[in-house]
Amino acid sequence: MLKLYNTLTGEQEDFEPLEEGKVRFYSCGPTVYDYFHIGNARPFIVFDGLRRYLEFKGYEVEFTQNVTDLDDKIIDRADEEGVDPAELAEKYAEAYFEDLEKLGVREADHRPRVTEYVDRIIEHVNALVERGYAYEVEGDVYFRVRKFTDYGKLSGRSIDDLKSGARVEVEEKKDDPLDFALWKSSEPDEPGWDSPWGRGRPGWHIECSVMAQGTLGETIDIHAGGHDLIFPHHENEIAQSEARTDKQFCRYWLHNGLLQFEGEKMSKSLGNFEYARDVLDDYDQETIRYFYFSTHYRKPLNFSEKNLEDAKSAVDRVYEFMRVVSELEISEQNSGSSLTEAGEALLERIETARDRFEEEMDKDFNTPGGLGVIFDLVKRANKFRNEGKSENYYLLERAKKKVKELAKPLGLFQGRSEASASGIEEDLLQLLLEVRNELRERQNWDLADRIRDELEDLGIEVKDQEGETVWRVEGN
Ligand SMILES: [Zn+2]
Repeated sequence: MLKLYNTLTGEQEDFEPLEEGKVRFYSCGPTVYDYFHIGNARPFIVFDGLRRYLEFKGYEVEFTQNVTDLDDKIIDRADEEGVDPAELAEKYAEAYFEDLEKLGVREADHRPRVTEYVDRIIEHVNALVERGYAYEVEGDVYFRVRKFTDYGKLSGRSIDDLKSGARVEVEEKKDDPLDFALWKSSEPDEPGWDSPWGRGRPGWHIECSVMAQGTLGETIDIHAGGHDLIFPHHENEIAQSEARTDKQFCRYWLHNGLLQFEGEKMSKSLGNFEYARDVLDDYDQETIRYFYFSTHYRKPLNFSEKNLEDAKSAVDRVYEFMRVVSELEISEQNSGSSLTEAGEALLERIETARDRFEEEMDKDFNTPGGLGVIFDLVKRANKFRNEGKSENYYLLERAKKKVKELAKPLGLFQGRSEASASGIEEDLLQLLLEVRNELRERQNWDLADRIRDELEDLGIEVKDQEGETVWRVEGN
């Protein structure tokens, strides 16, 4: 059974979604005022992996990731560049989706944007005002933190701790320094929408509550994000959501550790960061994904050239194994000759690999453990091959298939092909499939199957259904 560390309880818990077999999963997306840096890529990759792993275990997963396309950072940046905030946000939203694709991160089922949700945000804020959880001051609306008695339950802080740490601003308009903005009035030259409190725009936190509940329902199963979002962002999300519904907002809160740059937090304000797209110029997506999955997602991780080079050689090692196996002459069947000791050991490993893989991964999505099972298989397969008992090489083919099967939820080792075939590649593929169908008509099954298998090794899945042959690039 899958166990996940829940920030809300501080414990590893059995994962049981509200509705059997179905997972409602929300992960905080970017504020699109710039390209995202490689540290921001960590939650995108890690939670893409968790989403795929849940599917691998048979769950149906509905996944939402928002795009913050309206925020003070966007307004400031647009001001600097002398462009319209909406135009700036659109440019970086497009770049974000491009970079995600290059990192092999699958598209979310829902990708809501704040600007599309303003009406629903106003409605939510209004409901909080009506219930006495929010109040208006001069066109701004604040959440009354003290009224929500559970405030602090995620970050483990008490209201009194918070109060002693709160900064009291000069000319404070709020009733209490702890209160936070749900709605902010806009200057005439700033983006704004008409509301019951005058022209304004949403505060940052409210959007995630409204978009999570708007796409997935009042209670969701998993909410994920970087460790730095626990307070105040996620704490505020809980308050805003539960104050409206009187129901639990989210059951499992997951937070990834931050990426460090030479031992310091990677951040744009410190100036020590690299854009993900620049890292992608030097390293392929699997190297970057491996780099993240080789450390447990909750631990801090250091970004360095050495760590990326190590990741690259690990990925290369597996592809080298796959290449060697695909070049061997392998007969499909057991030759009947008995297995050597290394062969027996390999067979046993292949047969138990999936169980061992899941056992590791089920320990709070322990990807280093899962990768350990995959690398152990590769190591034993290489050892067996080095013995040169070619009559039983069919085991190598099986080991290779198992590696692909297990690495799939991590988006690794599915074949180093482009994400999709296009133009001439597509024509060539069509031609190959026509040849294959002709071979099948002539009952030349061996050759027809070989075409299918080799395409599969390249990451192209071929299926015959209802008299038609269809193909798709795996992972898409
Ligand atoms: Zn958020």
